[in-house]
Amino acid sequence: MAISSAVLEQFRGVLVRTAGGYLRNPIRTHRVTCAVCTTPCPGYERCIPCRKQLHEPGQRADQVAALTYVFANKQSGYVMRGYKAQPRPVQEHRDVVALTAILGLGLHSGCASRLLGNDITHWAAIPSMPAKAEEHPLRRLVTQAAPGLECDLRGAPSAVAPRAISAEHFWMAPVPEGSHVLLIDDTWTSGGHAQSAVLAARDARAAHVSVLVVARWIEPSWAVLEGERKIDPETYLRGLSVRDYDPSICPWTGSSCP
Ligand SMILES: [Zn+2]
Ligand SMILES: [Zn+2]
Repeated sequence: MAISSAVLEQFRGVLVRTAGGYLRNPIRTHRVTCAVCTTPCPGYERCIPCRKQLHEPGQRADQVAALTYVFANKQSGYVMRGYKAQPRPVQEHRDVVALTAILGLGLHSGCASRLLGNDITHWAAIPSMPAKAEEHPLRRLVTQAAPGLECDLRGAPSAVAPRAISAEHFWMAPVPEGSHVLLIDDTWTSGGHAQSAVLAARDARAAHVSVLVVARWIEPSWAVLEGERKIDPETYLRGLSVRDYDPSICPWTGSSCP
């Protein structure tokens, strides 16, 4: 179900007012941030984990976008933990995650379709790994805004290395030939969780797989090397842009919508 542009406009106002100061639009600059996951990696096209994933051509996601950088030790990190805290999620954090995800889907799902020349036909929220009995908290938040039909994606009950990339980690019900599946996740850390789900979508015969994550998770210990200098990643990113969060910046391109 599509959400009207008037409602999206209201949501945008609320999100910018409440979280615009600490959410950060991911930056896409060639050889400054990773072309896949937007992590800072000056001098390289892709960060180290994404470079390793390139050994599997044709299997990884066709395209990946994150809606915001999230810093583990800052407000943005608390929000990503709080929205799914057990036994009781923090309502305020849930609202921020829901608004971010709904705006990202409502304003930019069409961009993912246009960039690949193939409309999104299906979507799935990537479940936890190993599988949990309860519904993934993100799924309920995005159901109203996700494009196409929901497809059945399940996590394996157990895994030796849940963060590694493995086709054994997920199973997806087959989709019609030519389908474009959008996989939605809350957090991208190394990419192993999402890229494993991509393998399941490929096994389910998806022609195209796009991945949209709410948060590109950044640890303060991931120092950015610029020549001889070591810079903490948040300071580095702040040096690239200081602007407040703007949901209309396209997460797929890092600038205007295609
Ligand atoms: Zn990367
Ligand atoms: Zn866009």
